[in-house]
Amino acid sequence: ISTVAVTGSASGIGAATATRLRDAGHRVIGVDLRSADVPADLAATEGRTAAVEGVLDRCDGVLDGLVACAGLGPHVDDVARIAQVNYFGTVAVIDGLFPALRKGTAAAAVVVSSVASTHLKWEENPLTEAIETGDESLIAEAVAAGGDYRGQFAYAAGKNALTVAVRRRAAEWGAAGVRLNTVAPGSVDTPLLAATAEDPRYGEAIRGFTAPIPRHGRPDEIAALACYLLGPDAGFVHGAQFVVDGGIDALLRPTVF
Ligand code: NAD
Repeated sequence: ISTVAVTGSASGIGAATATRLRDAGHRVIGVDLRSADVPADLAATEGRTAAVEGVLDRCDGVLDGLVACAGLGPHVDDVARIAQVNYFGTVAVIDGLFPALRKGTAAAAVVVSSVASTHLKWEENPLTEAIETGDESLIAEAVAAGGDYRGQFAYAAGKNALTVAVRRRAAEWGAAGVRLNTVAPGSVDTPLLAATAEDPRYGEAIRGFTAPIPRHGRPDEIAALACYLLGPDAGFVHGAQFVVDGGIDALLRPTVF
């Protein structure tokens, strides 16, 4: 039995991942705002510390896997919070748990990014100053150029930065024997997507767009990939981003990969 921490374990992709891992006999330590082994708010420093310490307590400092799913969608009004959870909170958790993963057996981590991570280039990412200085009070102003769509701007920028953060850790984590990859879902049927689809700014785009596989993904289809990436069959897979989007990326950007 291995011990795996899952953030965002109370809903959607995180809940499906926790279920799949438990069904396979693993021990899961769930982290979420509520209904979790470790209740914690990843938007703020204290909550991030509580999340890391709560997991370390329960795993005695030795962790075999981590799946970071917690996140907010582009519809959330507090745009700073979108980047605080999706980027800053997620990076704090993966870095905070890295020492425990180093002590794990064939340890691996999977970070849930998004196809939105490809919607802008790192060179154009408005969050770089906030990231370099660690000053999260800069986020709201940095994404204000998005106007009515600043939530989407904060979402895409946060996910872009998250995928970059994972790829930049490939050397150190690989040398430490801990694999680290991202999955980039397209539209997946979860409460997050339902809330975004109800938002007047984003609803039409979500309802009107059909992927080559003409449906939304199911949370368990993302969980299945996350579990493959955690497991021994993925032993040489590291620093990579896996798109799970029914073919949208291939449709929109056939020459970019
Ligand atoms: P969801 O809303 O069903 O689950 C997200 C979970 O994160 C919730 O349980 C929520 O409580 C938790 N969370 C939110 N803010 C938190 C905070 N401050 N601290 C701790 N936990 C917090 O959504 P989902 O669709 O399952 O999303 C999971 C991940 O997948 C997110 O990172 C999201 O960006 C990503 N994603 C989703 C889609 C999609 O279409 N559903 C597409 C691409 C990427």
